[in-house]
Amino acid sequence: MKSFESLGLSRGLVESVQIIGFETPTPIQEQAIPVLLSGNRDFVGLAQTGTGKTAAFGLPLLDLVDDNSRDTQALVLAPTRELGLQIANDLENFSEKFKRFNIVAVYGGSSISEQIRKVKKGAQIIVATPGRLIDLIDRKAINLSTIRYVVLDEADEMLNMGFKDDLDKILSFTPDEKSTWLFSATMPREVRAIMKNYMTDPFELTVGEQNTGNANIEHQYVIVQEKDRYAALKRILDYTPEIFGLIFCRTRIDTQKIAESLMKDGYNADSLHGDLTQQQRDRVMIKFRQRTLQILVATDVAARGIDVDDITHVIHLNIPDEMEFYTHRSGRTARAGKKGVSIAMISKRELGKVKQIEKILKSPFKRMMIPTGAEVCQKQLLALMNRVHEVKVNDEEIAEFLPAIEEQLNDLTKQELIKRFASIEFNRFLDYYRNAPDLNVKSEKGEGGEEKYMTGARLFINLGKMDGLDVARLIELVDEHAGLGKKDIGRIDLKGAYSFFEVEKDKADRVVEALNGGTYKGRPVRVEVTDGKESSGGGDGGKPFKKGRGSYGKGGYGKGAPRSGQKKRW
Ligand code: AMP
Repeated sequence: MKSFESLGLSRGLVESVQIIGFETPTPIQEQAIPVLLSGNRDFVGLAQTGTGKTAAFGLPLLDLVDDNSRDTQALVLAPTRELGLQIANDLENFSEKFKRFNIVAVYGGSSISEQIRKVKKGAQIIVATPGRLIDLIDRKAINLSTIRYVVLDEADEMLNMGFKDDLDKILSFTPDEKSTWLFSATMPREVRAIMKNYMTDPFELTVGEQNTGNANIEHQYVIVQEKDRYAALKRILDYTPEIFGLIFCRTRIDTQKIAESLMKDGYNADSLHGDLTQQQRDRVMIKFRQRTLQILVATDVAARGIDVDDITHVIHLNIPDEMEFYTHRSGRTARAGKKGVSIAMISKRELGKVKQIEKILKSPFKRMMIPTGAEVCQKQLLALMNRVHEVKVNDEEIAEFLPAIEEQLNDLTKQELIKRFASIEFNRFLDYYRNAPDLNVKSEKGEGGEEKYMTGARLFINLGKMDGLDVARLIELVDEHAGLGKKDIGRIDLKGAYSFFEVEKDKADRVVEALNGGTYKGRPVRVEVTDGKESSGGGDGGKPFKKGRGSYGKGGYGKGAPRSGQKKRW
């Protein structure tokens, strides 16, 4: 592995980088910096976000730009204000102890006259979003004729966002003899066209394989029925108490709705989408960066350029139609060599899409089963115990209260105390998840190893909650009498005086026969197949009792789902 010294950077710059804490160059830095430092070669870097590409172009740029001249010599274009600000900030940090530059960021949603004033003071490096730069060009507030280097960062994103014409116009104002450096996570036709039209024999560098995902991302999917989507999301979040995550939705309305529901249900969540004002967006991003916000729900457009390290999970509430979107979404996790998980929530019809993405990324997706209520409870209990271990005890300040506390509790044994403390937090989860149905769409392996989905029969049983029936008891009954285990039983809907449950079609008769005629708590048991409804994937089968109390359909999630003190921790 090479060192920063060996890449040809100036001594002062190497020292700055060391002060920042970068010890060794990342692969893209190692390969790009020597080429870019030559200053006269066009360059294309195919690299995901999080690979260290900002320093890969930023360090050579700072070395090449002359701080004795006030001319604007370098232009960095980025798709979003967030990314632009991040780049400008990184450049400031890299150069702080090296050269005195005037680096100016220009972007929409902020005072243009203030930006013009800064540019006019003589900005050697300008970092811009395309739209705002066009405004500056139109107002003749900027002179691009002295530009020697143009960097197009996240070029695919800029083109996705419809900046093609703006880019053409901007580039037409720059001199022909400049060097152009382009970075992109993907290489669609439109990016190739930019290369063809504006670059001469560029040096091409691919970090990792083209279109191959970051190997540190674990790709997973869960199969859900539409009506269970939100419930399943909550299960996943409850099962991952330490999550610092990003949830992607397709539309602004969904984004707002999901964030609001999560907040109402006690999660530390907020939303980021285009209907918010710039100020609101800034506020959300500050909270997220500082980690006082644990879950950010965002649209694809609003989340572009989100550059926050340590995101543990990216959840796709719906799988996106475009491959590029999937790459960009999942690339928000596993940055700077860390590990991350990307979970796509799909309907069974979308399994084909997963297979397609798998093929392009060349990395396998694992099916994750949506955790059961019991699994969530266990995980939360362990997380709680973990917090007990980790909590910082302030000996001095608690000392004065201890005698009174001890007096209050001295009749309890250690065992009793543990049970009670654990129950304070835990009971809420237990109550919420008691009788929670399995949200997984059943599947089994078909002959060729492909997934085959359960085509279940829905059975009626004349026992319900009023008889003391719960999920565990029902499974036990079916197991005891018909020899079917938990894995053979699908969705269970417990009602007051009766219930419904699913079993594989070909086992339905066996269950009916085995259970009919028996008694449960003195009541004769009656079981019958409801009229031929396909169960999994078929909604609630058109039953007359839609939002019964046992139902976990959309309507049932508004109120007070318990959280395990996450707010306090974040
Ligand atoms: P980027 O791909 O430029 O957004 O960088 C992703 C993250 O990696 C940022 O947080 C950088 O500060 C960090 N980073 C970049 N280069 C290095 C390096 N050589 N060593 C350690 N961290 C780095």
